[in-house]
Amino acid sequence: MNLILLGAPGSGKGTEAKFLAEYYKIKKIVLGDILREEVKNNTSLGKIVSEYMKKGILVPDDIIMKVVREKLDSAGFVLDGFPRNLAQAEMLEEILKEKALSLDGVIYLKVNEEKAVERLSGRRVCKNCGAIYHIVNMPPQKEGICDKCGGKLIIRDDDREETVRKRWQVFRRETFPLISYYLKDSKLLEVDANKSKEEVFLEIKKALDSYGKDKDFSGN
Ligand code: AMP
Repeated sequence: MNLILLGAPGSGKGTEAKFLAEYYKIKKIVLGDILREEVKNNTSLGKIVSEYMKKGILVPDDIIMKVVREKLDSAGFVLDGFPRNLAQAEMLEEILKEKALSLDGVIYLKVNEEKAVERLSGRRVCKNCGAIYHIVNMPPQKEGICDKCGGKLIIRDDDREETVRKRWQVFRRETFPLISYYLKDSKLLEVDANKSKEEVFLEIKKALDSYGKDKDFSGN
């Protein structure tokens, strides 16, 4: 199964990508995580992308395409955070053609802005292992400390409210047009992402089951 997860910042893409990857045994390709790792390791790529990311704006397409071309190597994937604009969607089609791969579905996690801001402003991330918490919905056992590795929990630079609002503007302007782009192909599956992460995952599975009746989307 080859999927794309689309959604505004705070729609829960990261969480649902993880569930999908585990359940359907597919590889998750999370652009934001790949870029954050480069920044953390202070690589040459990391140095280039960090300023864009801090400001909440998109990294140039040519840089993103190089990363995707390298990571997208076989069937069975869920793409999170890519494509982010029409140019990237068109470039993705080229890459898929080159690699004789095809898309099975595009899941759109629809969330309202206030809900998303609330989620992101309460999010805490382990500086060491990247584990994710939420101060209200999923607090760590000890405030500010990661349950898994004892690392320090921090607020991502781009989760501050001002930057989140900026990322939403970018989403509306650049990414939202992809909804009609994929609707045309009848590949779009819209899911209400204001609910809990478990409920959202159930809805995604239901949508994939009815969409993929003729394919084997059983997760086995
Ligand atoms: P995310 O964790 O998906 O919200 O991504 C965090 C940041 O990484 C974004 O605000 C962008 O600066 C950058 N980024 C992630 N994916 C892309 C992409 N497909 N195109 C351009 N920039 C991206």
